[in-house]
Amino acid sequence: MRIDIMTLFPDSVDAMLNVSILGRAQQRGYISIQSHQIRQYTTNRQMQVDDYPYGGGRGAVMQADPLYQCWQHLCDLEGERIHTIYLSPAGTVFRQADAKRLQQNYNKLILVCGHYEGIDQRFIDECVDEEISLGDFVLTGGEIPAMAVADAVCRLVPGVLSDPECFTDESHWDGLLEYPQYSRPEVWHDRRVPPILLSGHHANIAKWRRKQAILRTRNRRPDMYERLDLSSKADRKLLKEIADEEAAQEDNVPLTTE
Ligand code: SAM
Repeated sequence: MRIDIMTLFPDSVDAMLNVSILGRAQQRGYISIQSHQIRQYTTNRQMQVDDYPYGGGRGAVMQADPLYQCWQHLCDLEGERIHTIYLSPAGTVFRQADAKRLQQNYNKLILVCGHYEGIDQRFIDECVDEEISLGDFVLTGGEIPAMAVADAVCRLVPGVLSDPECFTDESHWDGLLEYPQYSRPEVWHDRRVPPILLSGHHANIAKWRRKQAILRTRNRRPDMYERLDLSSKADRKLLKEIADEEAAQEDNVPLTTE
């Protein structure tokens, strides 16, 4: 997987993506992430990349041509039109399923980071294949969303993580949030690790984790819970257990007297 990131701040992107797991994966040749300074594609002496918005209003808009020259250069280098994503608060909200789709369908991506008030619509119309948002909020620039997308996609590339289980056994892969995790020591600030996790009984641990994941998803993300398929025999048994435990808890709550 090769990802080219068009940005006005390549240093901040490089600082993040060239270290740790993604840095090592790049050194080993599984992925390549390159940042490109859009300013280098200007034709004016000041290397200006933005100008006032037509129609009036505050701020500046990134001009189409420097973006286009940078984008065209990247496509020319590869000898093909590369699937191009503009990070934008007006885009479709990014999900794990998108990371999976992008990793499975493309081996090259261009990510375009906007700044100021955004970028000239004509560049989007001509060169952008999809617009992706990190969420319903507005950031100062597209660098953090681009890094998030690059990270989420690259960690799915075979070889980047030691085992596919590293990402399949995680929140959002199969519509569930992950169960709670614990590490040493067994007791910390008088808080104990759930005894089942110390039992060494793998089947029971797996059952406990699935139950916790179901409960967490139901309590924190009812929207995700509604979409879950819990029709298997094992899941129906877990749901029954949860319902029984909750009913028992309710029975134990003393009635309030007024
Ligand atoms: N005027 C734009 C609007 O109202 O939609 C916001 C521009 S924002 C201040 C500057 C740049 O940050 C955008 O061009 C985009 O690249 C990036 N950005 C901001 N919020 C984002 C988000 N939630 N998701 C993805 N990119 C975002």
